Amino acid sequence: AGLEADRSVPASNRVQNRATEAEAATPTTAFHNQPDTDPALGANRTWGRAILQRSVDTTLGVDAIAAARVETDEQLDGIFAAATAAAEKWAALPAADRAAVLHRAGDELSARRGQLLEIMAHEAGKTLAEADPEISEAIDFAHYYAERAKDLETVSGATFIPSKVTVVTPPWNFPVAIPAGGVLAGLASGSGVIIKPAKLTQRCGAVMIEALWAAGVPRDLLALVDLASRDLGTRLVASPEVDRVILTGAYETAQLFRSFRSDLPLLAETSGKNAIIVTPSADLDLAAADVARSAFGHAGQKCSAASLAILVGSVADSRRFERQLVDAVASMRVGLPDDPSTQMGPIIEPADGKLLAALTELGKGEKWLVKPRRLDAEGKQWTPGVKTGVAEGSYFHMTEFFGPVLGIMHAKDLDEAIRLQNAVDYGLTAGLHSLDSAEVATWLDRVEAGNLYVNRGITGAIVQRQPFGGWKRSAVGAGAKAGGPNYLFGLGEWTASELPA
Ligand code: GLU
Repeated sequence: AGLEADRSVPASNRVQNRATEAEAATPTTAFHNQPDTDPALGANRTWGRAILQRSVDTTLGVDAIAAARVETDEQLDGIFAAATAAAEKWAALPAADRAAVLHRAGDELSARRGQLLEIMAHEAGKTLAEADPEISEAIDFAHYYAERAKDLETVSGATFIPSKVTVVTPPWNFPVAIPAGGVLAGLASGSGVIIKPAKLTQRCGAVMIEALWAAGVPRDLLALVDLASRDLGTRLVASPEVDRVILTGAYETAQLFRSFRSDLPLLAETSGKNAIIVTPSADLDLAAADVARSAFGHAGQKCSAASLAILVGSVADSRRFERQLVDAVASMRVGLPDDPSTQMGPIIEPADGKLLAALTELGKGEKWLVKPRRLDAEGKQWTPGVKTGVAEGSYFHMTEFFGPVLGIMHAKDLDEAIRLQNAVDYGLTAGLHSLDSAEVATWLDRVEAGNLYVNRGITGAIVQRQPFGGWKRSAVGAGAKAGGPNYLFGLGEWTASELPA
């Protein structure tokens, strides 16, 4: 059974979450998570295979990107001005009217599931098994935030003042769900939105935005931009016209944004170095499968991915777990997404820098249990790697790599394992495999991460059921968790309408 505790919001940020606990606990009405495509049904497999194997539609999203090109400061200023004017009209609508548009956006995304799968496979190398739930998540964001928009009108004694211009700068690893989440939250809160998709997955972003336009979101209110220079990028986040920036990316990018403008209202989910602890009480078969899936889903390119497994006591000594993990990992099918039997796809760019070093070098005391092999000339296709003997405080222990390589650490007891898990600067996801309830309680109490998972994998948060957000260096200027009941409350300002006498 999955268990997740909400630990993401540091005390200093709690004040931003205007929902009272009672409000947060109110069950969501009229929202159901979108079901993924069920691969057990033959018709679905045929459908999926046809999409992945047809010759790629080279026009998908292309016109939208061409029209989004911004070459000059004046052009960008024009986009700010248009978004500001459109936002005034949008915010003046009753929340129920905005919600109706967002529900239609969910339906339009749903209607484009096939197109989105195609462009995600082609541009991001996502397998169907990885891409399909991501599309469900994007649809969930539309319907969920549509409903949450209405909550903003019902807080007594305070009035929500939406932002006029929210800038969304998403990453390439979830090229549909993360941009959709930021854009839909901004729109639901009553703001205008400018989105700059990641360069590597621009077409995924464009196809997603086209769905929102088709649903009736005005183009001035929701602008897609493709910036011609870095200076324009700086202007996009540093201009005083921008009320808020929603960033998902590296911790260093958040720092860079802050260096452009120190008072920038930034909501950033940044970087992770995530570990799963396995104790002797665990179901080791389940743990091995969950570690493998968490480490190598989307070739390890999730902020939420497992980069470390910390084996406790006899799990470390007996080597049985390591043997099981080796079997699971070494038998993984690596390939391209157009082959339906592919379990792990390529990485998005040829490995270099820190990732190349992690895939090809060993630190002191480390040895390969499964040595990664490069399968193509370019360096985008690698077999998954597992190294053991990762030492406390070592480079591998502390550094985020974003690719298909897992390190194993050994700990004498749970205390030591938690210390190793918490030693990193980040705190995004964390896992524990244990069937001992006292161990689970100890761990829940001490682990420092935003998203906690017990006896399951540590990726794949689900809108409403498992809101997602980080702690420590995995969040900068964070408010509430994405996909959770309070997220919209932090996207604007509040004025108390009934001041105490
Ligand atoms: N929400 C994703 C998950 O739970 C991770 C998002 C990210 O990589 O930033 O796996």
